[in-house]
Amino acid sequence: MIDRPVFHPPAALLQIAERLEGAGCQAWAVGGAIRDAILGLPRADWDLATDARPEEVRQLFRRTVPLGLDHGTVGVPGEDGSMYEVTTFRLDVETDGRHAVVEFATDIEDDLARRDFTINAIAWRPTTEDLRDPYQGIEDLKAGVLRAVGEPAGRFEEDYLRVLRAFRFAGAYDLTIEPETESALRSAVAHLGRLSAERVREELLKVLSAEAPSRSLQMYADYGALDGWYQEIAAAASGHGWDQALGAIDALNSRRKFLRVVRVLLCAGGDEEEELAERAETLLRRLKFSNLDIRRGTHLVTHYRPLVHPADGSASIREWLHTVGTDFSRDLFRLHFAAARAAGSDDSQRALVYTWRRVHEELVEGSPVSVAQLAVDGTDLLAQGLPKGPLVGLMLDELLAQVIDAPERNEREVLLESVRELIELGGLDGLDGGPEE
Ligand code: ATP
Ligand code: MG
Repeated sequence: MIDRPVFHPPAALLQIAERLEGAGCQAWAVGGAIRDAILGLPRADWDLATDARPEEVRQLFRRTVPLGLDHGTVGVPGEDGSMYEVTTFRLDVETDGRHAVVEFATDIEDDLARRDFTINAIAWRPTTEDLRDPYQGIEDLKAGVLRAVGEPAGRFEEDYLRVLRAFRFAGAYDLTIEPETESALRSAVAHLGRLSAERVREELLKVLSAEAPSRSLQMYADYGALDGWYQEIAAAASGHGWDQALGAIDALNSRRKFLRVVRVLLCAGGDEEEELAERAETLLRRLKFSNLDIRRGTHLVTHYRPLVHPADGSASIREWLHTVGTDFSRDLFRLHFAAARAAGSDDSQRALVYTWRRVHEELVEGSPVSVAQLAVDGTDLLAQGLPKGPLVGLMLDELLAQVIDAPERNEREVLLESVRELIELGGLDGLDGGPEE
């Protein structure tokens, strides 16, 4: 016999539930919040399921936000400043493996029947303390078992995202997958290609926001779920770098989801070093990451190596900062720190701390490492008689190289003198117009 769980929902959620119940509707806490509460895990977001239709919910509260009215979800701001999701009971009437046509239902049991796993199909009604667990999800939770609600193969066919969700939940809570669910999973993996890129991407980001995503990612690999969407890294999963990669992902702070994505991307390296960035970009595009993320991701992957070395002089450090960009330097170190922590190497960590301190000093010093930080700009060069065109950029690059070597030279007069000398010497001749060497 399992003890009856005790729930401690936020006061703001109780208020919303009472309001719904006061209007003659049912309000049930469901899903992740109930699951986590039973496990004794802290939980910020609590969701409610109700028999009230979305229009009714919107009328009952002063302020609401339509979060997905076709799915029956209304956001209700709580007194504590959080947004609570109130979703009308649903019944799937038709599914095609990627989205469902839903109909509203009037019974919590119908709503629980369409949920994916037993551990996610538990409902608790705060006002009456009524608990519904028609599929023995509590027992599964306590036994550490992931089991589909109903007939597993059919449930995955309805929505293949559940395959990836299975890896996420099994990984996050270290669950054993019940045999029938497991064999259905194995067959369903081949159909992941039918999902939309957006759902696959959001699911990855959820996996990566877990404390330690490695177990889930290992399941992606073991079940062959990397083959389609993540084909660039599928081969890496059988190589020796994989364990290091997983360790490094776990070692990165869970709030830095995108850096964890970048660490995944670093597994995309083929035999040729240059291919890495290209393959990483292809993967990010396939998953429809934003253009900004694609730029950040490929840039970080490209410059992951070489990192500055503890023995490097300050000019080399500034040169490195110029190459990778100051904004990215910290992230590159975070990636390397994670790798060193995962490898358990004290020496590497000490060397990194030392090197980072040196880099940080340069950053604080504010020595110029980009053309924009020079004491002169293109207009100044034109005023010195330099013709408009590519020479201006080349001259600025030359000045920056000088300043990276000797930051004290970043004075307007010093640089202009250098410009005049270079013009007189014809130091940039031959670069004018024609193809560069
Ligand atoms: P978390 O928020 O911690 O990621 P969660 O369980 O709340 O986990 P959500 O994706 O927020 O997960 O979904 C809330 C609930 O809705 C789930 O617990 C589950 O009952 C149900 N659910 C979500 N997605 C699906 C799906 N694709 N198929 C069936 N039920 C689902
Ligand atoms: Mg949730």
